[in-house]
Amino acid sequence: MSLQNPVFIPGPTNMPESLRKACDMPTIDHRSPAFAAVFQPAVAGVKEVLGMTAGEVLLLPSTGTGGWEAAISNTLSPGDKILAARHGMFSHRWIDLCQRHGLDVQIIEAPWGEGCPADAMGAALAADTDHSIKAVLATHNETATGVRSDIAGLRAAMDKAGHPALLMVDGVSSIASMPFEMDAWGVDIAVAGSQKGFMLPAGLAILGVSPKALAARDSATLPRAYFDFGDMLKGYAAGGYPFTPPVGLINGLAASIAMLKAEGLDNVYARHHRLAEATRRAVGGWGLQVCAARPDLYSDTVTGVMAPDGFNGTDVVTLAASKYGVAFGVGLGEVAGKLFRIGHLGSLTDVMLLSGLATAEMCMADLGWPVKLGSGVAAAQEYLRGTAAEPIAKAA
Ligand SMILES: *Cc1c(COP(=O)(O)O)cnc(C)c1O
Repeated sequence: MSLQNPVFIPGPTNMPESLRKACDMPTIDHRSPAFAAVFQPAVAGVKEVLGMTAGEVLLLPSTGTGGWEAAISNTLSPGDKILAARHGMFSHRWIDLCQRHGLDVQIIEAPWGEGCPADAMGAALAADTDHSIKAVLATHNETATGVRSDIAGLRAAMDKAGHPALLMVDGVSSIASMPFEMDAWGVDIAVAGSQKGFMLPAGLAILGVSPKALAARDSATLPRAYFDFGDMLKGYAAGGYPFTPPVGLINGLAASIAMLKAEGLDNVYARHHRLAEATRRAVGGWGLQVCAARPDLYSDTVTGVMAPDGFNGTDVVTLAASKYGVAFGVGLGEVAGKLFRIGHLGSLTDVMLLSGLATAEMCMADLGWPVKLGSGVAAAQEYLRGTAAEPIAKAA
């Protein structure tokens, strides 16, 4: 692997130099006002990115997975029933984590490549007339397949069923790269991580928590200690943390949000959409299919490229790493070997993306896939040159 090349895994993502520097902080006393000066802009910025006005933002030293654990352990009790769709490795892993905590998960299975089925979720909620389901779990962007689900549609289905369950959303690979509307979608807990759309090293679970979810904590009895929201909020009230915070990462988060806002969040989302569309054009140029079943499910942060019959997607990833020093994502779980993934989120320009598409193309040709050199790159070039605004994305 060459450290000069960008990565095309769907997280961790490429880190702009300025954000790496922002994480590199001298030691400060985290119980002094100097820490509040770092911390408060990060919290305020996350609220803006999440589209939330009420509730709390919690920055926990962890990763997205720890964020899932914090979300459920602060709001639910052993044996509680929850509803979740499984349509990829990340929705599967969240379900597994809930089951290991002794929750009773009602699982709606959907094909990998489909989104969270709002209609089926709504029907399950409508059938739950005594409201025994305490929470609904959704994965906004299924990173394993490159599928974005319609969270507004899920909220509408919950409202139609008149169901009071909490709505918890995994936005680890969508938040800060695709529009997210915590208030408008009635999301009770949103989970993000530092190493994807925020372009930072791994190490922070970033949670938005609604007043309703905070209130659920009072009666929730799942064991929790390190991730207890109550301890965190007591720490916040005293201007800090109940333990030692990762000050450099929090400083990086504030810098990341300042960078996103300097570009403009809408421009950030438009840039991701455009790079994703260029990637999909390349896949079409190769004569291949994406994993997402329909255009309304297309993810703007990661694309699953289906291997043609008789070929293995993992081979592309292995060869790209060994021969060209470039990282792509392998297929996970049910789609292992059936696809490879191109991550196109975070700090990425047209030029960077084209280098990845060209490399994937070389690998497929090397492996004897029926892909003509230049076919995908040309399709992406046509799209990019036809849609480039002036100036394009702000230099990072
Ligand atoms: C990366 C990812 C996770 C896991 O996050 P970690 O930071 O690796 O713990 C969870 N959900 C989704 C959708 C992801 O993309």
